[in-house]
Order: sequence, then structure tokens, then C-alpha cells
Amino acid sequence: MADTKGDCKKPKDCKSQDIDDKDLPEDQICKECDKGSPKDKTETENVFNPTSADLAKIEPGDDPMLNVEKDKTLKDESTYGLTWPESVTVDIDVRCEGGKFKAEMKSLIGNYSLQTRFLPHQHKVSVTGKPGDPSLGNFDEGSYCNQALSLSVLGKVSLPNDQWEYLPYEWYILDAVQKHEEVHLAHYLPALKNAAPEIGDIIKKLSADATPGKTKEQAIAEIKGSDKYKSALVEARDVWFQGHIFWDAIDDHNGPAAEAEHKVVDPVKNSICNYAKTHGWATCAACSP
Ligand SMILES: [Zn+2]
Repeated sequence: MADTKGDCKKPKDCKSQDIDDKDLPEDQICKECDKGSPKDKTETENVFNPTSADLAKIEPGDDPMLNVEKDKTLKDESTYGLTWPESVTVDIDVRCEGGKFKAEMKSLIGNYSLQTRFLPHQHKVSVTGKPGDPSLGNFDEGSYCNQALSLSVLGKVSLPNDQWEYLPYEWYILDAVQKHEEVHLAHYLPALKNAAPEIGDIIKKLSADATPGKTKEQAIAEIKGSDKYKSALVEARDVWFQGHIFWDAIDDHNGPAAEAEHKVVDPVKNSICNYAKTHGWATCAACSP
């Protein structure tokens, strides 16, 4: 077989002994570092496919960007729930290029936390009866209107002139908060897949010198133990959050999140109101006449 440009067969072809236009001459980048001795192979079989990116739920950590998480719980008095991109986990492979072991992203996991809770001094509305028959609920004539009102305003109202200060109502349903958070969470995986190529480029900048005797496994361990790897993961997490999730979720609070809550609380509120009405209890402004 002719030794032509595009044929990387000496001493061994990149992929096969056949001429392949994608192969580069062995004196260019078509080499693998094996125990310090470059061989004529560039590994491409582990190139990362963004669609294989996935999510993992973890416990909330200390994130300096959020004062609500300082002791791993929601402390802010107006925060019911929080979905948060905590970190990314990236596994790497290496290939030889230019006499170095260069990192290649092998897997990408986006680690998120999701927290829900009642606001301080808030109680759970419990309707354990059948739909339309909440006779086993935790309300009575004295409390039903307060519950219906609380549900109708999704458990809290903004104080005048301050969108971040809330007056919490006494009653709410945690599942509504969960559904609200799930509206945010729905963006996380698509955002991670969209961020994956950019994150892959960040990882590609990591490398280890191909010194004599160094194996591929040692090179991977060296890169993973480096400060640059830790910085790359922080950068990758920022790309996921600031570059994608933030923009994808920017309209969640202009309708979708509240709608998700209403889907949970409205039927309960209606059940309570109907029960009150059929039992001739005092009228309530939060219940339709
Ligand atoms: Zn929200």
C-alpha cells in the first residue's frame, strides 16, 4: 500500500491499515502516549456525546452565592423552596496530542439540590377525604376561610413596595411548592446538554506532560488531582447555571411556576369551600359565592 498523505499506517494506522482521509501523517498529531513513548494513534472512541449528560440529586451544600444555604437549610423567611445547580461531575479520558496527555470529557453529571419547606409558623392543609368530600380534613368552621384564603394567594403575599418581603399565610400545601420547584428543575437537563459542548472545551484545556514511563491512568489521576481540574469544574458549573439554566428559567416566575402551584391548591381550596357551603358555614371572601 502506498504511503501517501492521509495514510497513517506507519508504524500502525490510526484506525486501520486502509487509507483514510481523516488520518493525519504520523509526524503530526496521530500519536498516543503510551508509557511515555508516543505511538501513532489518536483515541477518538471516547468522544463525549452531549445527549448522555445526566442529572443527580444531592444534598444542598454551602454556596456562597446564596445566603439561604449557609447551614444547608433554607433560612430566608420568604423562601419555600429552592432548586439549585450545586456542581458538575466530569469523568475524563486522555489522548495524546502534541506530546501531552490531553483530557477528554467522558461523562457529565449535573448535581442539583431541591428543597421544600413550610414558611415559619405555617401549617399543612390536610384534606384526606375523597375529592369533593374533605370531611377528614384538618379544617372546621373557624379555620376554613383562613385556609381557603391562604391557598388562594399561594400561601404568601408580597408586602407593599417590596417584591422580596412576604407576609406568610398560616396554611399551605408542600406538594404545591414541590411542583413549583419541578418547573425550574425541568430546565436543568436540557440546559446541561446544551452546555455540554462548551464544558467539553473547558475540559480539553487540561493536560499532563507525557514524561517517560507515565501511563494513561497516571495521567488521568494527575489531571484529576490538579487545582486546574477543580477550577474547570467550577467554570463548567457556571456555564451550566449562568450560561443556560438562568436564561431558560427566566420566565418561570411569570406564570408557569404559579400555575403549577394552583394546579395543586385550587382543587383543595374548592373542596374546602364546597364543604363549607353545603354545611351552611359563614361565607368566606376567598370562596366564590
Ligand atoms: Zn421559583
